[in-house]
Amino acid sequence: MVTVTSYGAAGTVTGSCHLIEMDDIRILVDCGMFQGEDYITALNREPLGFDPTTLDAVVLTHGHLDHCGRLPLLVQEGYSGPIYATRPTYDVARFILLDSARIQHEDWLRAEEHEVRHGRHVPPPLYTEQDVFDTLDLFETARYDEPIQVGPLRVTFKNAGHILGSAFIVIEGRAARVVCSGDVGTWEQHVVPDPELPPEADVVLLESTYGGQTHEPLEQAMEKIATFISEVVEAGGNVLIPTFALERAQDVLFILRKLDREGRIPRVKTFLDSPLAINFTRLHRRYPEQLGEAVKRVILRGEDPFSWPGLTLTRTQRESRRIDYIESGAVIMAGSGMATGGRILRHLFNNLWREESGVLFVGFQAEGTLGRALLDGADEVEIYGEPVVVKARIENIEGLSAHADEPQLLKWVAPTRASRVFLIHGESPAPEALQASLKEKLGMESTISERGVTYPAL
Ligand SMILES: [Zn+2]
Repeated sequence: MVTVTSYGAAGTVTGSCHLIEMDDIRILVDCGMFQGEDYITALNREPLGFDPTTLDAVVLTHGHLDHCGRLPLLVQEGYSGPIYATRPTYDVARFILLDSARIQHEDWLRAEEHEVRHGRHVPPPLYTEQDVFDTLDLFETARYDEPIQVGPLRVTFKNAGHILGSAFIVIEGRAARVVCSGDVGTWEQHVVPDPELPPEADVVLLESTYGGQTHEPLEQAMEKIATFISEVVEAGGNVLIPTFALERAQDVLFILRKLDREGRIPRVKTFLDSPLAINFTRLHRRYPEQLGEAVKRVILRGEDPFSWPGLTLTRTQRESRRIDYIESGAVIMAGSGMATGGRILRHLFNNLWREESGVLFVGFQAEGTLGRALLDGADEVEIYGEPVVVKARIENIEGLSAHADEPQLLKWVAPTRASRVFLIHGESPAPEALQASLKEKLGMESTISERGVTYPAL
């Protein structure tokens, strides 16, 4: 008997949390934060839906917040067993969870100050830094392709090619083999290797984020970046790139370095204006063997794949502020990736009203964010409570996704020949589109998982 229950990332793309029960063992795969609009983030404060003290093990596919962000809640509720993850995933999760605790604390202080005056109650942070440290204490490191024994079950991490350290999970018992996809990466990325293909399996939990969609080819994306930067610099403006600190920042650094070396963009001053992205870039250098082929080739030549003479790292506020005096010819990468906060806001404030400047989006922009408003063509936006007229050029690059598109998801899942496929991690209409394609192209039946529903899988 095998059962599968998704307590998150079922009908949403965030909050990944899946319970697999097999041979009387209960394994939780991921326990991530719900992110996005208020009605989704409100789910973080609802009961988990299961008793964490009954779990035999927790397995973490990768360090993104929507996969690891609620782990401290398990520990608050009494979980004291192992949390298995690859070594780089531990490092990534450490940064991400501590950053999350810090941001929650700061948001709370700010909200309290504002709301107390209006007599409203502000809920405290979900967890503190101390909760994060208690959670990190439970981590045990797993290596790719070396099974871990959880009771009678064998649990194996396989490279998912999504971000540094990312894995999909193979759980094998007497009754069956279950594969949990985590997030599947794309082929021919720079920073991380191609995803491995899974073995034959009875049951698959498959992410469906980009069901029904096909990404633009990488070379085309790079050409668009080169053209945009060249034109904005020629016009006498600055280029702003709102950047996610992990993976996307390293991807963009590698691409800009390549474009610079190949003479495809003018010699510009480039700034990585994000302490978190600087830390993650250092972390990538620590695991050269786990990086993609293109990056490895550069390392083998004795060069740094994420640096070149035109790049400046600005860690402190003071260094960051100096960028404000540059009127033209700068490429500025800063967080947050959806322009919901962070240093990018200041750069947008300084540049959005200038028609010679440009904003280059390189990642997904959720509804309700400033990034989405700019992409949707807003004429005026509000930053720091002040109206800012939008005159800068806005460009969107779609080819840098760290997620497999539909053709790649089909390629990935085909070798499993699974009789039971559960579609998770997708927002309508993506899972429905993938469901139709699975049936039509691979003859595979699938179920779109609903949150909190236990499905007998075999
Ligand atoms: Zn992810």
